[in-house]
Formats: sequence, C-alpha cells, structure tokens
Amino acid sequence: MIRIHLLPGREKSLLRRHPWIFDGAIKEKNASVPAGETVLVCDAKDHVLAVGAWSPASQLRIRVWSFDPQEKIDREFFRRRIASAVEFRKKLDLLAPGGGCRLIYSESDCLPGIIVDRYANFAAVQFLSAGAELWKDTIAELLLELPFIDGVYERSDASIRRKENLAPICGVMAGAEVPETIIIEENGLRFAVDLRQGQKTGFYFDLRTAREKIRALSGGKRVLNMFSYTGGFACAAFAGGAASVLNADSSAPALVQGEKNLQLNGFTENVENVCTDVFEFLRKLDSRGEKFDLIILDPPKLIPGKSAVMRGCRAYQDLARLGFKLLSPGGTLCNFSCSGAMDAELFQKITAAAALEAGVSGRIAARLEQSPDHPTLLSVPETFYLKGLVTTID
Ligand code: SAH
Repeated sequence: MIRIHLLPGREKSLLRRHPWIFDGAIKEKNASVPAGETVLVCDAKDHVLAVGAWSPASQLRIRVWSFDPQEKIDREFFRRRIASAVEFRKKLDLLAPGGGCRLIYSESDCLPGIIVDRYANFAAVQFLSAGAELWKDTIAELLLELPFIDGVYERSDASIRRKENLAPICGVMAGAEVPETIIIEENGLRFAVDLRQGQKTGFYFDLRTAREKIRALSGGKRVLNMFSYTGGFACAAFAGGAASVLNADSSAPALVQGEKNLQLNGFTENVENVCTDVFEFLRKLDSRGEKFDLIILDPPKLIPGKSAVMRGCRAYQDLARLGFKLLSPGGTLCNFSCSGAMDAELFQKITAAAALEAGVSGRIAARLEQSPDHPTLLSVPETFYLKGLVTTID
C-alpha cells in the first residue's frame, strides 16, 4: 500500500480522530495515486496512523476510513460499518416497515462521503468522494443484502461531487426498480417521495423531531410555513389541529409535492400554497398587516461557504425580523439554519438581534436540532449543522 506522509506536526487532528486531511498537511500531495485508492497515512517519522482514501482532485486529499492502521479496507470492512450504522437506527426504532430514515450519514457513521436514506424498502444513495465512488458497487450490493432493502437507487447528483472531479450520476444500482412514487409513513402521517427527482434524496429526515414539535405547538393556530417544499411541517401542523396553514416556496414542483402530501393525509381545507420568493412575500404580508400565531422559517443553506458568512447572516436576520413582525401577541417563531458555518450561539445572537429590530420581546421555548438518525460524531463537530429556535413572544 502506498505510504503518504504528513508534514511535521500536522498529525494533531488525526490523533483526535478527525478523518479529514487537507493537501496542505501532506508531504507527497501530488503523489500519483489513483482516485479513491486506499493509502497508509503516516506521520513525518513514518509511523502509520490511519488508512484512508485518496482524492486527487480535492483539497480534502484524504478521508480516513479507519484509525486502526491494521484494518483492511475491503468488503468485510464496509459490511461491518454498515451493520453498525443500521444497529444505531434500530436502537432508535427507525426501521419499522414502511417508514424511512437516514441509514448512513457519512462521517458520523465513519463512512465519509457515503449517504444512504431508506425510503420504505428502497435505499437512495449518494457517493460524494473518490473513495466512496471506488467502493460504490460493493456498498450497493451490501445494502441489498439488508433484509429490509429491495432496491438501491443512486442519487449522486450533488454539486459537491464537482470538487472531486466526479460527474453527476443517477440511476438504479442494484435490485428492484424504484417506483415513481414511494409512500413512507412517519408518526401516522404519509408522505409521497419522488426518489428520482426530489431535492437531495427527496425528503428531510433531519426535520423529524422538528415536525413532532410543530405538531405539538399547532393546536388552533394560524400557521405560516415558509420554504414549505414537502409540506412536512404543514401536515404536522394540521395533524396537531392547526386552524389554517399558508405555505410558500419559490419552486413550483416543490409546492406540487407539498400539496400532494397534504391531500394524501386528507388536509385539503384552510390551506393555501403560494409560489413566491419568501423574502418578498413576508414583506408583502407585513404591509397588508397580516398576523400569524405560529411561523416556521426553514430556508435552504444560506451560508454555502466561508466567503458567504456575512451575507448569509444578514439573510437569516432579515427572515427572523420579518417573522417576528408577523406574529400575533403570544405567537411563536420557529426559525432554522442548516448552514454548518453558522454555530448555535451565533444563530441565537442573530435571532435576538432580529427580535430587537422587530420590537418584540421573546423567550426561547425549545431548541431543535437534526434528528438523531443524523448523529453528531463527537470527534467531528462539522457533523452538527441543523439549529432551530422556538421563540415565543410576549
Ligand atoms: N421545510 C421543507 C424543506 C425546505 S428546503 C420541508 O419540510 O420539506 C428549502 C426550500 O426552500 C426548497 O424547497 C426551495 O425550493 C425553497 N427556496 C429556496 N429559496 C427560496 C426563496 N428565496 N423563496 C422561497 N423558497 C425558496
């Protein structure tokens, strides 16, 4: 196996069991190693520290598969890692037939670059690094061996693949053909998922605990659900007894998907769906003097990279300010950020500044985060990304 050496002193993060090695830390950063090949990672004194996958095109040049230098990276390695990821979801009681969950969450499950979502008896997979790409057929076969999986569909069309010089690929990988629509059940609600065309892999399992919270808060409330997409929050709100729900999303197909899910659950009254830019729409609602009792703001990642932090923060603050202004007295704002670059403390500060600007006084009633099938690996803080604040105003 090819030995790759770190520059002196650059093994610190590795010793803390962080799996990312950037090109700047590597002595032989231009080594001619085939994409995805397993390499031995050594410190400057040639002690082997880990085994990882080589990504020639990315600044993130090596992702560690194992911190045990003796561990062989082969079919059995992936079988063990998949089994341990499945076991974790089993303990969370997320493997009921007909349901769905994130089965493998990349670094959090010690399988960097590999994401697997289970939709009933189908797996939607994303391979996001050269190492993942090299092993993908093995992984698809192993997934098909799981007793609850009948088919594996690849959704490797995330833009992040470009950094690895990997072209987008979608299609059936193993087993049965995926139906056009898969219906999954969550807490007695049914959701139609378009595994082939949906954004990401079609549904947001990371919001499951947030949906439960919205359901609990919605009784008798006029709900404004911004960036509504699958209508997951709208369905949860109606299931919790909401008086009305107003959904908005800028994507027409997203709204269609949301409407479909509302119909599937029999929620066809007191609901309105508007195709619009949320920032403009909130201003319009404010100028009309409209008020809501519960407002959900779940925008896409507004901080895509480090260079966009300032602009992104302003956008989050804008949204929260507009949200606070539209609340009726005693109302509740539930705002989210899925940007990894925004930490929880900063998000709270931004929300506080927004309340001040809106002239309201609020108390945090609950804090939300990604559901536990997207676990945070202690040694990789970057695996924590979703923050939500439930703030009730006076
Ligand atoms: N809360 C949703 C998920 C939101 S994903 C759910 O439960 O399913 C983010 C959504 O924001 C996408 O559907 C995208 O179409 C929409 N979006 C992105 N920018 C927007 C904008 N400026 N105005 C309105 N919608 C926007």
